[in-house]
Amino acid sequence: SSPPISQSPGGKISVCVRKRPLSKSELQRGEADIIETGVGMLSVHENKKKVDLTKYIEEHRFYFDQVFGQNDDNSIVYQKSVSPLVTQIFNGGNATCFAYGQTGSGKTYTMLDSNEGLYILAGQDIFQRLKNPEYKGTQVVVVFYEIYLTDVYDLLNDRKRLHVREKANHNVCIKDIAEVSITSVNDLYSVFEYGNKNRRIGSTGANSESSRSHAVMQIQLRRPKGTNPIGHTVGKLSFIDLAGNERGADRGDSQKDSTVRREGSEINKSLLALKECIRALDMGKSHQPFRQSRLTMVLRDSFIGNSLCCMIATVAPNSSNCDHTLNTLRYADRVK
Ligand code: ADP
Ligand code: MG
Repeated sequence: SSPPISQSPGGKISVCVRKRPLSKSELQRGEADIIETGVGMLSVHENKKKVDLTKYIEEHRFYFDQVFGQNDDNSIVYQKSVSPLVTQIFNGGNATCFAYGQTGSGKTYTMLDSNEGLYILAGQDIFQRLKNPEYKGTQVVVVFYEIYLTDVYDLLNDRKRLHVREKANHNVCIKDIAEVSITSVNDLYSVFEYGNKNRRIGSTGANSESSRSHAVMQIQLRRPKGTNPIGHTVGKLSFIDLAGNERGADRGDSQKDSTVRREGSEINKSLLALKECIRALDMGKSHQPFRQSRLTMVLRDSFIGNSLCCMIATVAPNSSNCDHTLNTLRYADRVK
């Protein structure tokens, strides 16, 4: 295994991993916890069998910028991973935070949970910082949308299907998306609750349709510009609850179901493009392969210039998810 690398080459990305605790049903089934976490380090103990059926354990060790164990709550994750992103948007840049992992590993819990998801902790931080007179007149605007296959749906406007347009200067815009002005954390929470009801079958259970789509919640800071009442955006912070990374083929009858297969291939395409775009951002490359998927296209301005990116890979600790967990960790390892 490679030695710990604490900084990405360009210092623009951080790659973290978060292990959730065993669930009640995993405990009831007597499943083992195969993940051990340490500072910046995580090991997976894979149960294997030799050809002669003797059992042995293979250890896979990974190093990340941050490793969060099952006892680390969202406020720790916030402090160590997201707070620098909020600083970034106050300095006029863009920032994105992705949750990547299999369905049931804790992506929604981390990003867009009704109680204490990272988005709400960021909101608290943002409104706290805005009390500083230096930021008088700054507006906060929220957009919230979902990407399913190649379609974009406005969660703040009855799941209206939105058109994505690339302008002559390559800027990408989502036409007519609802932008909601907020003035408090309570507002942020209400906007979230409203939009969350519009998610594709809002449930978070394994294999629910919401796990087949990406959800994007974006908080924008705007400063007044002359007499323009809309102001101009000075910084954007996006929270992205990605679709589950398990392959379509793992989902039972998928071979027979063309929709499920299309979902799987579209998700795969977008997760591969995402990895490429994050790496290109980190290397300071001017050419971004953002056109390869709808997800990377709508997030284009998060991968260029003065942008920061935090990837939080979420993993389940139980032995029967070992293959998914290793896939997630290998993807995250290649992003950094
Ligand atoms: P995903 O969005 O990746 O499909 P969820 O966020 O819905 O997964 O999490 C699956 C279940 O595990 C939920 O019941 C959630 O409350 C629980 N869970 C996830 N992460 C944690 C954690 N870090 N601590 C405690 N419970 C968690
Ligand atoms: Mg989810």
